[in-house]
Order: sequence, then C-alpha cells, then structure tokens
Amino acid sequence: MTIDPDIQAAFDMQAVGVTDRRRNFGLAERKQALSLLSDVIKNNEAAIVAALTEDFGKPETETILTEILPVLQEIKHARRHLRGWMRPSRVAPTLATFGTSARVRPEARGVCLIIAPWNYPFSLAIGPLVSCLAAGNAAIIKPSEMTPATSALIARLLAETFSLDLVAVVEGGLKTSQALLSLSFDHIFFTGSPAVGKIVMSAAAKTLASVTLELGGKSPTIIGPGANLKRAADWIVFGKFANAGQTCIAPDHLFVHVSVKETFTRLLRERIAKAYAEGSISSDLSRIVNKHHADRLAGLLTDATAKGAHVTQQEIRDGTRFKPVLIEAITPEMAIDHEEIFGPILPIMAYDDLEDVIMKINARPKPLSLYVFDNDRKRIDQVIEATSSGSVGVNLTLIQFIHNRLPFGGVNNSGLGSAHGHYGFCAFSHERAVMTNHFSALPLVFAPYTPGVKRIIGIIRRVLE
Ligand code: NAD
Repeated sequence: MTIDPDIQAAFDMQAVGVTDRRRNFGLAERKQALSLLSDVIKNNEAAIVAALTEDFGKPETETILTEILPVLQEIKHARRHLRGWMRPSRVAPTLATFGTSARVRPEARGVCLIIAPWNYPFSLAIGPLVSCLAAGNAAIIKPSEMTPATSALIARLLAETFSLDLVAVVEGGLKTSQALLSLSFDHIFFTGSPAVGKIVMSAAAKTLASVTLELGGKSPTIIGPGANLKRAADWIVFGKFANAGQTCIAPDHLFVHVSVKETFTRLLRERIAKAYAEGSISSDLSRIVNKHHADRLAGLLTDATAKGAHVTQQEIRDGTRFKPVLIEAITPEMAIDHEEIFGPILPIMAYDDLEDVIMKINARPKPLSLYVFDNDRKRIDQVIEATSSGSVGVNLTLIQFIHNRLPFGGVNNSGLGSAHGHYGFCAFSHERAVMTNHFSALPLVFAPYTPGVKRIIGIIRRVLE
C-alpha cells in the first residue's frame, strides 16, 4: 500500500524517538505534556463547543458536560496519580525463586495509533491521548471524518501544542485509516463499531501490535417491579436522549416489569416532554450526525411499524433532527430488535419473569453496559451474577463512564481491554518483569544431573508440590 508521505514522516519521526523518550520522557515531562493539553482545552472551550454545534448541533451544556469535563477530569486524575502509576512495583519472591528480587516496571509501549469515532468526537480522541501520554508514548490520532469541524479543530490545537514527534493528527476517512493500520504501531487504541473493530484487530495481527478495542452494541435496561419509577425515568431520559441517543453506553432498549409498565411509560412520556418541550424539536437535543444515519434510523422505524410496532409520535423527523420516540410491540423479525439503535428511539418491552429477560440478554453478544433499576438487592444480584457486560449501572445510566477509578471497556463483541485512569495507563503500558539474582540456590540443580543433584531435586519437589 502506498502511504501518504506526511503520514509516513510522522510515524518515522515518532518511531525514531522511542529510545530518546524512554530516557527523557519521565514523570516531569509527562506531567508537563498533560498540563499543556489541559491548558489548550481550557483556552479553546468556545471553539470546541462551536465545532460540535457545527458537526451535529450538540448543545453547549452537553458539550461541556460530556466532551470537555471528562477529559479535563481525566488529565487531573492522571497528573495526580502518575508518580504512583509509574513506580515499579516490588513482588515478593516465591519459594522456588528464593534469593532473588523482582519488580514489575510499567513501560511505554512506543508509538500508538488512536482511532476515534464521531459520536463523542472530541473526548474519545483526546481521552485516550491522556492515557497514552501519561504512559510515556507518542501518538498518531485519527479523528472521525464524519465530524469534520471537530476533526479539523483537534488537528489544529494539537499541532499548536505538541511537536509532531510526540503527537500527530492525521485527518481522513477509510483510506487514511487503512494506510495507518498498515504501519507497525506498538499499540492500537480503537473506538468504534464491532464490525470495524474486527478489521482493526486483523490489521494488528499482521504486525502483532497490541490492541484496545472500545466497541458498541445494544445495552439492555431492566426496570424491575421495585424500581423508583420517577427516578428511573429521569435517568433513562438523560441516558437515552443526551447526544440524541448517539452514545455507545446509552440504554438501547427497555425490559419493564409488566406490573409497572403502564405507569412507567406515562412517566417516561412526561419526563421527555419536560426535558425536550413538546411541539417543535428542542435545541437541547443534538442532531443525528448525518443524512445516512438519519435515514438509517427512519428505516428502523419504518421496518418496525410495517411489522406491527407502535410508535408514540407521528411526526418524528425534521431533516437530521429527531424527536424522542418510544416504540412498543417489538418482535424478533424487526431490525430494531437486533441492530444497535444509536439514536433517540427507545423500544419498551414488558416482561413477567426475570429469568426470561436474563435468557434474552445471554442469547445476544455481551453488551457494553447493562442497566438495572430496582430496589431489591436479590433481583439486582440475580441479573449481575447471571449475565456478562462491560459495565453495569444500578439505578443510574452513563455516569460509570466518568468514574476515574473504574475500568471502562467492553467484553468480546463490545470490546477488548479497558480505558480510563490507571486502567488507561496500563492499556498503553507494557508490564515488564525485572528479576535480579542475589543468592539463588538454583545453580545446585544445573547439569550435570548427578545422583546428588537428583536428590536435591527430590527434596525441592517435596517442598514445592
Ligand atoms: P466506525 O467503526 O464506523 O468508525 C470508527 C473509526 O474507524 C472512524 O475514525 C473511521 O474513520 C474508522 N473506520 C471506519 N471504517 C474503517 C475501516 N474499514 N478500516 C479502518 N478504519 C475504519 O464507528 P462510528 O460510526 O464512528 O462510531 C459508532 C460506533 O462506535 C458504535 O458502534 C458505538 O457503540 C461505538 N462506540 C463505542 C465507544 C466505546 O467507548 N466503547 C464509544 C463511542 C462509540
């Protein structure tokens, strides 16, 4: 594959600098790089807000809450804990290794590629960069081509802040991504769909680059009979309609206990009306990112209604703006039942027996998140123990993302590896084992294997086995 000379030059420059960074990109320099990143974000808040408004009409408050604050918080947390994260950890010797000492040194992987999606185009490009720099690596970032204003802004801001041998931004779509994936990166951090995640992992297999895959899927949500329905409605409307539902961990669909379904659906409608004023489409709702995705969502609705589903609104779309839609009577033949919705459409399904819901969840790929609303500890534990997902939210949605001390990531189809805080630092680090001999007795059993040596081995076996 022919590679754009600028991409090759940036990669070569970063690769050549690996040894130098090992020696000279220590705690102080990494903290300084993180400060520079924090300053450039704080000084350009208005430009970031404007880029996201241009790209998909994201309301200023949401941009501050979901794109800027999480990254600034991530930087602050990394700066505060970096010394401890970087410190090699001593490990005690085992019986067999008596007479040695050992430690685990987290080391920079080298040159890393960060591929970002469009739905949180700022925070999902810059958040991984925080962990990447904290771990002492250089990075090439490829933002999403679907949000061109944010992509151009990221490229400009990072070019003004860092030298190319530390951080480079390469803008572009599929071809650019493919060209980048043909280079021998030490680590690839990809956020996007499971389908492209598989392409990234096969590309990484060619060079045996390590990967972190932050993927998506359908995050199911259970409303149990003991849930505080009003509070559940608040959290679900926030989690589902922030960013117009274009959130990897948004509740995708609801399983509502039959005893509370009517009341809960009414409360949901009232909460939606309060948040996003009925009538015209509220400016507190983002647009759908482009016509392709707006058509995809409209297609999901047409398909579902043609097959017997009921929607709550008739007039749901104005160009790329959608009103929140509640949809009922979903059946397995409908595409909305198995495709990730990724928009402001919320299917509601009634259930009677929690075991049926658990069976349905387990029949699907493991979700990125799973939400349970209930007040009954036993039922909540029943769900957690019998299922698997990247994360679980109990009586909340989305905010597990902003907890710096929690790993953020999926499992199998929803991802591989973790991001955020110390977990993000580890994703971009190699845990190198260093072992030093002081007075190990093991040379006593080296060849030649005389009867004396065999006797010693016999004694060792009796102690160790
Ligand atoms: P996507 O997979 O289409 O694209 C992501 C990135 O990959 C983009 O930069 C794109 O240019 C690049 N890309 C696209 N096709 C490619 C190919 N064939 N080869 C190489 N690179 C390619 O995802 P998207 O539409 O931008 O984002 C939506 C998806 O991302 C959803 O599935 C969502 O759930 C998921 N997501 C996951 C997380 C998470 O943290 N787990 C966060 C946000 C979004």
